[in-house]
Amino acid sequence: MLTMAPDGVIALPKTQLSCPASLCKKPDSPQEELAPSLLASAGVTAAWAQKSQRCSYCGLVYTSDGDARTIRGYFNNPVFPEGWRPIYV
Ligand SMILES: [Zn+2]
Repeated sequence: MLTMAPDGVIALPKTQLSCPASLCKKPDSPQEELAPSLLASAGVTAAWAQKSQRCSYCGLVYTSDGDARTIRGYFNNPVFPEGWRPIYV
């Protein structure tokens, strides 16, 4: 059973996912489930934000639908300013 950490993220099993970002320098970095309240506090209220994952290394936020994953943006990326940065693809 997954338990939520105080900072609102849940670590996913390492084997479950890897970062979908082709530019991510650490593709084996832990992926985590992002709490909807965290995104909501950053102003993201879209329906997809109810269930999203985040790369703990580059901050990429994405959603999964079976094997397909959709990149949504960055949340607290170490390079970009803190907070939410959407990516329009
Ligand atoms: Zn990444």
